[in-house]
Amino acid sequence: MTAKQMIYADNAATTKLAPEALEAMMPFLTDEYGNPSSLYSFSRPAKKALADARAVIAKCIGASPDEIFFTSGGTESDNWAINNFVLAEFHRKRNILISSIEHHAIFNTCRKIALVHRYTITPTPVDDKGKIILPTYKEYVKECPDGISIMLANNEIGTIEDITQMADIAQHYGIPFHTDAVQVVGHIPIDVRELGVDMLSASAHKFNGPKGIGFLYVKQNTVLKPFIDGGQQEAGRRAGTENVAAIVGMATALKLNCERMSENRRKLKALTNTFKNIISEHLPNAVFNGDQVRRLPGHISLSLPGISAEGLLHVLDLQGIAVSTGAACNSKFIEISHVLKAIDLPEKLAKGTLRITFGPDNSVAQAQYIADKIVEYCKTAGVKHAR
Ligand code: PLP
Repeated sequence: MTAKQMIYADNAATTKLAPEALEAMMPFLTDEYGNPSSLYSFSRPAKKALADARAVIAKCIGASPDEIFFTSGGTESDNWAINNFVLAEFHRKRNILISSIEHHAIFNTCRKIALVHRYTITPTPVDDKGKIILPTYKEYVKECPDGISIMLANNEIGTIEDITQMADIAQHYGIPFHTDAVQVVGHIPIDVRELGVDMLSASAHKFNGPKGIGFLYVKQNTVLKPFIDGGQQEAGRRAGTENVAAIVGMATALKLNCERMSENRRKLKALTNTFKNIISEHLPNAVFNGDQVRRLPGHISLSLPGISAEGLLHVLDLQGIAVSTGAACNSKFIEISHVLKAIDLPEKLAKGTLRITFGPDNSVAQAQYIADKIVEYCKTAGVKHAR
């Protein structure tokens, strides 16, 4: 099935490259192939493109250009931030505080640090909407961990956390605070100064940029140790010849998304409302997960009791619809994601959890069509109370 024939509603997984980003990238994939670190004039366009992209990205998030460090994507940014808690040698309590719903890029990095550097990792709990339980968080912060990493919005259930408040508490104790904003950058307005974070991760392919490129925002005067060693690129903090074309594509995509943000958000609201109204009318036992007010635009996490989400995903796939599940089927058992476990979603709901993430390219008719197909499937599957 070609992209033209299908309905893509998995924008939290990745997004389509903006044509404008591709166009901006092309010269650096063809004629302008100079190494930005070289001294001769042929390299000037590449060097200038890097500087311009850095300035554009910084402006989009309220930072200054020297606070932006290019990486290979969200995973590397997250790895770098977490490892920096160790590399910066704070060595207070040899403890890192995270949330119980972090992405694997944070979780597995922490797991390794626990093993290799003998750190303890504290996952602070969330409530049934996926919001950090603030009194518990405060108690953990008082223990003075070496660093804190709490995601700005969750990729599975779409809940947006109150990072400003949590970063403020961390700052009071002088603890460096990182946020994984991979699902947020380019979708809702971000101002790093208002957020009050020391580090922030982003990934271009989540906001219509190319894959394999991202950035880490690092507040001025934050101790930042190199994570990849080699040459002097990125102010000597991140070695390796920069992927100039991808960086240019990322900056172009982010600028466009920021310019279109209000319009996109209005559109996504209409799509999610259409979808939710149809589901609620026909499947009254369906549950929408996550905070329904403070959530990512276009993001729906839907649990259908008595349904195998994986089975439904394959049926939708055959009908040309691409969505995700919240539980992955192993050959022997169904593995429920740590996020659905953390919000205490009963197993029968977790197994029937679908993630539908609309993008501005989707139409209301497509939202309607996906909802209708889900209702049709549930009725055929004999789900109780389907109307
Ligand atoms: N963090 C979050 C919240 C994500 O959703 C993802 C990707 O799904 C990542 C990190 C990893 O980003 P990347 O795919 O750019 O490595």
